[in-house]
Amino acid sequence: DELYLDDTNFNDRTSDEDSDNTVGVLAIVGRPNVGKSTLVNRILGRRAAIVEDTPGVTRDRVSYEAEWAGTRFQLVDTGGWEADVEGIDSAIASQAQIAVQLADAVILVVDGAVGLTASDERIVSMLRATGKPVTVAVNKLDTQMLEYEAAEFWSLGLGEPYPISAMHGRGVGDLLDIALEKLTKAEKTSGFLAPSHLRRVALVGKPNVGKSSLLNQLSGENRAVVSDIAGTTRDPVDEVINVDGQEWLFIDTAGIKRRLHKQSGADYYSSLRTQAALERSELALVLFDVSVPISDQDLRVMSQAVDAGRAIVLVFNKWDLLDEFGRQRIERLWQTEFNRVTWAQRVNLSAKTGWHTNRLKEAMETALENWDKRISTGKLNSFLGQLQAAHPHPLRGGKQPRILFATQASSRPPRFVIFTTGFIDHTYRRFIERSLRDEFGFEGTPIQISINVRE
Ligand code: GDP
Ligand code: GDP
Repeated sequence: DELYLDDTNFNDRTSDEDSDNTVGVLAIVGRPNVGKSTLVNRILGRRAAIVEDTPGVTRDRVSYEAEWAGTRFQLVDTGGWEADVEGIDSAIASQAQIAVQLADAVILVVDGAVGLTASDERIVSMLRATGKPVTVAVNKLDTQMLEYEAAEFWSLGLGEPYPISAMHGRGVGDLLDIALEKLTKAEKTSGFLAPSHLRRVALVGKPNVGKSSLLNQLSGENRAVVSDIAGTTRDPVDEVINVDGQEWLFIDTAGIKRRLHKQSGADYYSSLRTQAALERSELALVLFDVSVPISDQDLRVMSQAVDAGRAIVLVFNKWDLLDEFGRQRIERLWQTEFNRVTWAQRVNLSAKTGWHTNRLKEAMETALENWDKRISTGKLNSFLGQLQAAHPHPLRGGKQPRILFATQASSRPPRFVIFTTGFIDHTYRRFIERSLRDEFGFEGTPIQISINVRE
């Protein structure tokens, strides 16, 4: 099971700091297992991060606020980047690629203990195509005697390779001096430089559900483009949009307006783009067109948003097209297809006429409030103690699995780790989740529960 370190300060947007005056965005890339997360933790001073034992698990790609020698910057961790792979790995690879395009400079991490691999070389050619300044970190050179191993990486053609040990901190200071100098000088193109005090919203849904209509309806004349990257079709433009007196940062609005999804071969691409927007957002507005049957593709987009761990508001659009019969059909659907997300608020509206769009703001705020929510360890344990006393886990082979202790390891979304004396079955897990929701009110946010069995 996963182990979550405490992340109290992690990506904390309620802190006084704001990232408007960072020098830019630095992405850490490299193939899996070279030590990227270890390096990120080292740079952040071990404040952050979710440590996962399972290789290949998609990590949340987040932008952290970081500081080195008085220079503030944003740090982006990418998932493992294995070039030329298929299936889920290729999706991760493409996401890493998008992350690089959103950054201003890059640290490429390679493994000095393993040496140069073909995969490193493929990553380098992709990096070269982006034209971003790159600093090469040769990791796992834990002692001075091993430093010469870095020399081999001169052949990547990216200048001096820096020997480091992310684990012990060796060389990390020198590496950051160089990388931040390049970052400071780099041309700033990153979408992440948007004002960070605004909450980030992704508008998602399959083609034709009304994303651009809703965007237009909400923005009216009231919009400001935050970042625009010239010369590429792929990079996002975010917009600040005022929804009923509250400003929000809508992610990748260019992608919505350009209607890339209506071009050929675009399904895969549009789902990648959705994924990229979700990763950069905090809240997802998931749109459905209620005038036509809800399809698998609709539900897939919704699952993507839930699995990405975002706060969710479900938008049932084109309500103006429904008659009484249609409204009944939708209510039946709500009881069935949507039972996975009964915790989410649903807003029926018409992007075209503007009917009920004024209901969005409150739903969005509630969802984010709960997404941010923290339950103290004391409260959590006393609640679970009572719950367990009233409804013990069914006996299994004569034994009674018991909850020993629980803690909320992180928020955004809330994640709980529960330590038990035995395997907790699925039904009981669901029961715990429902009870936590009833007690603490997590409307609008997914919650995650990991069970950690202590033998
Ligand atoms: P990622 O997949 O690139 O994020 O790699 P991780 O940060 O998860 O590290 C992969 C493995 O390499 C872990 O077992 C780390 O403990 C180990 N590792 C990371 N940095 C170092 C280092 O500087 N020296 C040594 N010896 N091991 C390291
Ligand atoms: P997108 O592909 O998700 O961005 O969808 P669009 O915003 O382009 O909308 C697709 C079509 O649905 C357009 O013809 C819109 O005019 C229409 N549409 C969008 N919202 C509504 C609505 O609330 N009511 C009605 N009747 N039509 C809508």
